Amino acid sequence: MSEQKKLREELLLNGKNGYDRVSPEELTDINGYCENYKDFLNHGRTERECVETAIAQAEAAGFRAYEPGQSLRPGERVYWNNRGKALMLAVIGQETLEKGVVIGAAHIDSPRLDLKPRPVTEDSGLCTLKTHYYGGIRKYQWVSIPLLLTGVVERADGTQVKVSIGRDPGDPVLTIPDLLPHLADKQSHKPLFQGIEGEQLNLLIGSKPLPDDDGSDRVKLAVLKLLNEKYGITEADFISAELCAVPAFDAVDVGLDRSMIGAYGQDDRVCGYAALAALLELGTPRRTCIAMLADKEEIGSIGVSGMESQAFDTFVARLCAAQGVELRDCYEKSFCLSTDVTVAYDPNFAEVFDKSNASFLNQGVGLCKYTGSRGKSGSSDASAELVGQVRRTLDKAGVIWQMAELGKVDEGGGGTVAMFMANRNIDTIDAGTPVLAMHSPFEVTSKLDCYMTYKAMKAVFEA
Ligand code: MN
Ligand code: MN
Repeated sequence: MSEQKKLREELLLNGKNGYDRVSPEELTDINGYCENYKDFLNHGRTERECVETAIAQAEAAGFRAYEPGQSLRPGERVYWNNRGKALMLAVIGQETLEKGVVIGAAHIDSPRLDLKPRPVTEDSGLCTLKTHYYGGIRKYQWVSIPLLLTGVVERADGTQVKVSIGRDPGDPVLTIPDLLPHLADKQSHKPLFQGIEGEQLNLLIGSKPLPDDDGSDRVKLAVLKLLNEKYGITEADFISAELCAVPAFDAVDVGLDRSMIGAYGQDDRVCGYAALAALLELGTPRRTCIAMLADKEEIGSIGVSGMESQAFDTFVARLCAAQGVELRDCYEKSFCLSTDVTVAYDPNFAEVFDKSNASFLNQGVGLCKYTGSRGKSGSSDASAELVGQVRRTLDKAGVIWQMAELGKVDEGGGGTVAMFMANRNIDTIDAGTPVLAMHSPFEVTSKLDCYMTYKAMKAVFEA
């Protein structure tokens, strides 16, 4: 090797494509993992569905619902279901909780359209459902695509029914028709964010009037009749309901080489699934490991099921109590990998990136020292020591990773649950899968990066 080549290898940062670095055996693992991940996405399109799916997988892997007060032995596997909307799972380690816990924290809520409490309207023979969007969507992306409706309705008598329209093969779907180009001259000249307004996000659900009736709103009545026959609900029951419209299409491979995954809700189920899959495979780890699947990240991590909720503290405090450990002593020694997606460099929109600090598809999981915006505001800026520790852990485990920063300085920004973990006196750093078209109905990730996110989570749990 020439002196110059040696210097290059020793001194310069390696930005090699992950495909030039993985073994043939690992390629097989990547593909197998991603098939399971796509399956998880198809079953979990809301936080409720993700909790259900994750519990089923956890129980199959020997986890049981935690009973407050139960004793905990090393290797024990428990979970806590927070109101059906967030989930905490733990594998008890050999060391006591006084040595701290290792947390993988991801969120399982994704941007979508929620029904308003009084959603059903009829105008000009069309019945639509009014929505209030949830999270940071670009409204123009949600029109003229097939949408499915999923969620629960709490009926007047206190019974609950699950609603699912557009999910099963052959099911009818809902949609929000966009304006035709022929009449869109004025709309086309509006700023993009005003092209479709929030109050225009109305889901088309019917057009056939109730026969033999001479009253008003015959289409609405016919739709309500169908809903009543199928689910036993009335118009008033929408008041106590959580119904979400999400893209109706399944996760698919993208690219002739099948190297990518296109699907709704990869932010942040790609990390949620990684944390879950890594935890379910654990034997008895050195320290207790926790996978935290949080709700409400997309609207600020607030509320009983968000990362700011004391539900997390209550769960860990109970684990601590079983071993006679103070929660604050546990937190002080704990570590959290806040796993949330980051942006992948897109040459189509090169102007928003600092290319030398961007993350790229197929270069592995992205490690983020900080997130935030306008001078790192709203970020948990991990210390040099902490980044150093994680760097060593990932390298030792052969994880392909890269540094990631979300766009140019002052171009925009974003937050994660990291700061809410760090506020608890838990050492926290962000890491996540690079995503193209984040928050769109069809987000794109690389299979290699998805797998490396899981491998990073596993490495941290097993460290
Ligand atoms: Mn996210
Ligand atoms: Mn997000």
